[in-house]
Amino acid sequence: MSNPIRLVIFGRQGAGKGTQCAHLVARYGVAHISTGDMLRGAVEAGTEMGLMAKAVMDAGDLVSDDIINGIVRERLAEDDASTTGFVLDGYPRTIGQAEVLMDILGNRPLHAVVNLDVPLEEVTSRMKARGRADDTEEGIARRLALYEQETCPVLNWFAERDLLVTVDGFESEEVVANRLDEAVNSAILEASSTQA
Ligand code: ADP
Repeated sequence: MSNPIRLVIFGRQGAGKGTQCAHLVARYGVAHISTGDMLRGAVEAGTEMGLMAKAVMDAGDLVSDDIINGIVRERLAEDDASTTGFVLDGYPRTIGQAEVLMDILGNRPLHAVVNLDVPLEEVTSRMKARGRADDTEEGIARRLALYEQETCPVLNWFAERDLLVTVDGFESEEVVANRLDEAVNSAILEASSTQA
């Protein structure tokens, strides 16, 4: 069996992360771990955590680091995370979460952290068009502002650790998918040459 691939994908809301994650799953056999999907699942299931998360998500705020770190820690303890690897989507979103992620992974380093870069004006109009429950005008504005404030520093944090690759995401789905493959393939090669 091939070695597990461990990836993190970043991108503004509406950058096409979901679509590209589906592509990465098909291409590399990794598990797609989306904290947004997990939280929405908890809301739908009506769990206590879901009820708590719903109000926060509706307001466009971030769920607390403690809750989200706990969810991710549990999810990464499942077998597939070690056997096939994963692409983390929506996490880490704060430096605190990034530090916890490194601690959870321990001696299983990330291969790459990909920044799927799409301009602000473009994602804003895409999000208005998609109409998810939390895609109200204020919700969108708040989440995009939070992304710049909270998440851009996380990108820098990974860049300082030489893990960040930026992929221009303002292109057709197929072109972006090919660019992602190139970025991931070279990260995998690099990792295997440093381990050898
Ligand atoms: P989007 O990228 O449009 O914000 P997500 O599906 O990634 O959508 O997340 C939806 C909501 O779930 C966020 O607005 C936030 O409230 C919550 N959430 C998801 N991931 C995290 C995280 N890592 N830390 C805190 N809150 C999160």
